[in-house]
Amino acid sequence: MTPRALEHPVEQEPPRHGVGGVACRSCAFPVEDALWHDEHWLVTSLREPSGLPCVVLLHTRAHLDFADLPEERARELGPLMLRVQQAVYAVGDIGNVHVCRWGDGSEHFHMWFMARPARVTQLIGSFAAIWDDILPPLPDELWRANLERVRQALNA
Ligand SMILES: [Zn+2]
Repeated sequence: MTPRALEHPVEQEPPRHGVGGVACRSCAFPVEDALWHDEHWLVTSLREPSGLPCVVLLHTRAHLDFADLPEERARELGPLMLRVQQAVYAVGDIGNVHVCRWGDGSEHFHMWFMARPARVTQLIGSFAAIWDDILPPLPDELWRANLERVRQALNA
């Protein structure tokens, strides 16, 4: 193992996915496949299991970047963040729900909710997102059962 050298800044950053809404996967996401949706928002899961008990994403339905959320959407965001976080806790035995927004990969607004399992102290903190990629994926049946709990909590 050798440490990777820090590269110089590039002239221009690579474009994010779906710039300007062109060929945007989030815009094309079928709303009926969401765990929950309303007129302006939807909650989805990842396409396949990952290492943490549950990872879901809150998206705007319209193609909006975080910085461009209109005032009405911005006002809805706070209560929705709490609602999605509570729904992820419904999975059970969750120590914390990490709420993350990076926006480096896709322009379309999306926010991550990552369930950190309770009492697994190595996963405490900001590295939980990295552990999500490193840990073996959840068994499919457990992953689906956890998502169903989230879906029921969001739709209750
Ligand atoms: Zn989009």
